[in-house]
Amino acid sequence: MVDYLSAMTPKSILRTSAAAHEVAALFLPGQRICLTTHVNPDGDGIGSEVAMVHILRAQGIEAIITNPSPTPDRFAFLFADLPGIDRSAQGVKELRRADAILVLDIADLGRLGNLKETVAERGIPVGCIDHHASAGVLPPGPRFVDPTAAATGELVFLLARERGWTIPPAAAHALYVALVTDTGGFRFANTRPRTLRVASELLALGVNPEQVYLDVYANAPVGRPRLLAEVLQTLVVEDAIGLAWVTVPPGALERHDVDPDDLDGIVEHARSVRGVRLALLFREVSGGRVKISLRSVGTVDVAVLAGRFGGGGHTRAAGVALPGTLSDIQTSFLSAARDYLAQLPG
Ligand code: 5GP
Ligand code: MN
Repeated sequence: MVDYLSAMTPKSILRTSAAAHEVAALFLPGQRICLTTHVNPDGDGIGSEVAMVHILRAQGIEAIITNPSPTPDRFAFLFADLPGIDRSAQGVKELRRADAILVLDIADLGRLGNLKETVAERGIPVGCIDHHASAGVLPPGPRFVDPTAAATGELVFLLARERGWTIPPAAAHALYVALVTDTGGFRFANTRPRTLRVASELLALGVNPEQVYLDVYANAPVGRPRLLAEVLQTLVVEDAIGLAWVTVPPGALERHDVDPDDLDGIVEHARSVRGVRLALLFREVSGGRVKISLRSVGTVDVAVLAGRFGGGGHTRAAGVALPGTLSDIQTSFLSAARDYLAQLPG
């Protein structure tokens, strides 16, 4: 048995192998393959896509990336050696002439933003590699979904290994970005033995971990720490029930000349307060909606709480966007959060 699989049961190894086989059948030479991920893409979504581009290229197959949101500046470095591959600005046009679509790091049409209708209507195979627990809706196609994976990048690695595909250094670098960002630097509960085995193999393939740190976390616009300072001023903690929240003041992103990706990690500060079991970040987004990021500690399942409002995610990290004003949504959601905490043990 290969080492990275040794933490898996025989049944899950078989499932992985079958899923990898089915997804691999999507990629035929000469076809137009579009890779896509969720709105406001993160290091896992983009890292997984970029890794797939390099891995497929080594197999003689060209793929392009068509995302519903532009690539955040933070991850632009992943495209330095991939000119012309990020076609997110012409996503709908590219999807209209695609032969197959692979959706990474999400399994739901509802999170594909402006690409949703095109993906739904094309009638071409729509494959999916994802690690979210919440089930979603996508057109038919092969699935490689495993909620025990820390990141979609972990599954892309397994796919390549299962198929015997080469993982070029640039793909290993992108997959390490996916693992580091979705595990909070290997600190979150999703960090499992297999995650670290995969990370170890990526380092053996030549990844420089400090370079990944510098690229992802130490190349910020000055507005990022200034935004952090402003948002942290809004922190409210309700000790008695272990609830904490922060709010992005309207217009703050524009004032600091940053994008939503620069908010990444801020909600962790609310979760960091002793005794906090549920941390929330509220911000206005387009279309008169308010986005809520949820993080939890211990037994609090935020995927369930977000799910009640039509959102989703993972046990300890979830999100939802609701129509309404910032103050109305905040009032009603905080009330639901208090009720949710009150009916949980501890
Ligand atoms: P974040 O709070 O960092 O945006 O997202 C945390 C987790 O929740 C991620 O796994 C993300 O995919 C998921 N998530 C965020 N917003 C939404 C949403 O509006 N709907 C659903 N279903 N999941 C979301
Ligand atoms: Mn992910």
